[in-house]
Amino acid sequence: MPTAGKLGDALAEAGIDAETITDVIFTHAHPDHLWGIVDDFDEIAFPSAQLHFPRAEWDYWYDENTAESLGDARKTFAVGARNRLEMMEEQVSLFDAGAEVLPGVEAVDSRGHTPGHTSYVIHGGNGDGVMVVGDAISNAAVSFARPQWPTGSDQDKQQGIKTRVALLDRLATDKLAIVGYHLPDGGMGRVERDGTAYRFASGS
Ligand SMILES: [Zn+2]
Repeated sequence: MPTAGKLGDALAEAGIDAETITDVIFTHAHPDHLWGIVDDFDEIAFPSAQLHFPRAEWDYWYDENTAESLGDARKTFAVGARNRLEMMEEQVSLFDAGAEVLPGVEAVDSRGHTPGHTSYVIHGGNGDGVMVVGDAISNAAVSFARPQWPTGSDQDKQQGIKTRVALLDRLATDKLAIVGYHLPDGGMGRVERDGTAYRFASGS
């Protein structure tokens, strides 16, 4: 993925020292959302940070049986995830869906894409808040216009649909800004209703 592996450089460019990061919150354990936690020297990239991880997601990928049950196509996902989780153990703090992970940061159960996938609403600030959706809403062409279509990127397709429909309803109703990791224009925008479906309006 062309955007992967650039977090360190992006932070440096913004003048942020990785050692000053105090908290890192994870949505799920797929390679492009987890593997960067370990640097080229097999050290945790944020040495002073508490690593906040959804308990259901941790338990699933930490389980040695997951590599077998996932099937060959995604076996490397499981082996790679378990490997990183083991290295993170000393700095990790687990929480359940619905928890306030940090003051003003609400964990929203958004399983389906993975068994413990979690999105976050960051409350406060000047606006109505922002939801970091992770990969629960990930395809700009389909997810908004046809949220009830199953997608191959969801591990549990039916649960993925339920989650997407619920998130979109909340995003539009509560007028939350959205950050999506695989959406265009930096993934920032808003969700607008469009008949019985939705549309993505990019821009912060
Ligand atoms: Zn993913």
